[in-house]
This record gives sequence, structure tokens and C-alpha cells, in this order.
Amino acid sequence: MKTLQGTCHCGTVQFRIQSELNEFTTCDCSICTMRNAVMVKVPEVNLEVTAGKSELTLYQWNMKIAKHFFCKSCGIYVFHNKRAAPDYLGVNVFCLQNVDVSSVVIRATDGEDMSVKAEEAQQHWPGPRI
Ligand SMILES: [Zn+2]
Repeated sequence: MKTLQGTCHCGTVQFRIQSELNEFTTCDCSICTMRNAVMVKVPEVNLEVTAGKSELTLYQWNMKIAKHFFCKSCGIYVFHNKRAAPDYLGVNVFCLQNVDVSSVVIRATDGEDMSVKAEEAQQHWPGPRI
């Protein structure tokens, strides 16, 4: 397991994760598309915020299950609790230090259907498609 350091753009928020970096993902839901996110999935316990925790701000929308965290000062998306698996985080790989993003396979996942606002939207999502 590798230990990787991460920061937002201004450096206020600092964190570290434990991950093998086996795969990165993109997602076609409305927010991931807008933020052009490439993410690595880690269990929540494998991420520790080491500085600036109080400077994180939370954004939620639609079913308000996923929790999207941003730095209040520079606005950079750092990580989010996933809707399909709330005990897991998606981490912005461009915030990680010393990671060559082009060296890891990137898998596209299906999030578009999670963007649909529906009164009877599923509480539990089956998860990203293979
Ligand atoms: Zn910042």
C-alpha cells in the first residue's frame, strides 16, 4: 500500500491517502463532468485530513447522499463520499503529489443516471458499471 500526500491548490487543505493506485475513474454525472474529475476510490478510513479540515466546505445535491468537499479558499474539489458506496471516497488524483496520472488506467463509470432528479430515485445505487 502506498502512502500519498494530497493538497488543494492553495495548500490550506492537506491530506494523505493509502492506496495501491490500481485504477482511476471518470464519471459522467452532472457534477463530475463539470469538474472534469479523474478520481481514485479509497475506503474512507484510508484518508486522513492533516491540515485545513475546517476550511473544507460541503456541497450536496439531488438525493443528498454523496458529500462533495471543496476548499473554501481556492475552490478546488479534493474528495467526495460516493453515493454508490458512502463509506468510500473518490479522491481528485490531480491533488496528489508525485503521481503520474497518465501511468494508471482510467475507467469510465456510469454516473449520468444519478444526475436525474426523481422523487422515487433509488436510495441505493448498484454501483459503477464494469
Ligand atoms: Zn485551497
